[in-house]
Amino acid sequence: MTETLITSEVDFDVTGKQTGFLRVPHSVHRSAYGWLPVPVVTIQNGDGPTILLISGVHGDEYEGQIALTRLARELDPERIDGRIIVLTMANFPAAQAGLRTSPIDQGNLNRSFPGAAQGSPTAMVAHFIEEVLMPIADYAVDLHSGGSSLYYLPTLLRGRGHTPDEAARLEVLQAAFDLPYAWVFRGGGGPASTARTTMGAANRKGVLSVMAELGGGGSVTPDILHRTERGLRRVLHALDILPDYRPDAARGTRELHAKGSIYAYHSGVIEPLKDLGQAVSRDETVGLIHHPETPWEAADPVSSPLDGIILCKRALGRVERGDAVFQIAADVGAE
Ligand SMILES: [Zn+2]
Repeated sequence: MTETLITSEVDFDVTGKQTGFLRVPHSVHRSAYGWLPVPVVTIQNGDGPTILLISGVHGDEYEGQIALTRLARELDPERIDGRIIVLTMANFPAAQAGLRTSPIDQGNLNRSFPGAAQGSPTAMVAHFIEEVLMPIADYAVDLHSGGSSLYYLPTLLRGRGHTPDEAARLEVLQAAFDLPYAWVFRGGGGPASTARTTMGAANRKGVLSVMAELGGGGSVTPDILHRTERGLRRVLHALDILPDYRPDAARGTRELHAKGSIYAYHSGVIEPLKDLGQAVSRDETVGLIHHPETPWEAADPVSSPLDGIILCKRALGRVERGDAVFQIAADVGAE
């Protein structure tokens, strides 16, 4: 049983479409009895499974926020068999501000699970998702992107599954979403997961979940948005929640393992010498850090410690020591 202080304006057991807010109590100078409004939509009909669809865990990642906003508006409960719970702005203060973390408590929701019933607003939302929503869900999809600082190839993220049945069902979700790339984790997951992410929360509650990194750079592209919206409907159809939908032909997914990141060791302006999807070799120079403050100084080369392809790149020009410039992945089975 949960001791959450968050109250929901929607009843998760009622058929039809309901809209409203999760009220996160937030008593402050300008609003003594106030609450933060986390938008929630439920669409329910019949006896099918429950899927939790989440975006805005990081507030500066917009592909999922747009896709779920449109989906919540367009889905007709008459055409649904099951229950769809949508959180478009899971960390509402962060999403409202267009920031990765909450400006109220600096909370990074995807590092806050399992949360705390009486913690900060971000911790309270994490606790509500893990203790109230995950226990009533069969499936969860958490939509991310590179945010303001990174840019990803459109990639589905998933575990390998801890049983043959789980592995097969995760492959069904991956094939249904049909993004061009999948990042398949080598380990982790399962009910003993200690991850502080939504996937960790899902694993602890026995919910089959996938995540996606859908682009980023603080904006959206028509192509990635289309892939996201198409993928969500295909997933709902594959789970028999949206039975009338007619999916088009699958385009196929390239499965990758993430190998690691390439970091800046100097401050300056990064000139990437490689782009997303390109191959890199170990010790190859993949970028130059220029010093416009002292233009007479030579640029510092950035070399790759890894072989692989570029899954993610830095979206911002300025770098400091410790910033990830590229993330490198390799085909599953390539090593
Ligand atoms: Zn994110």
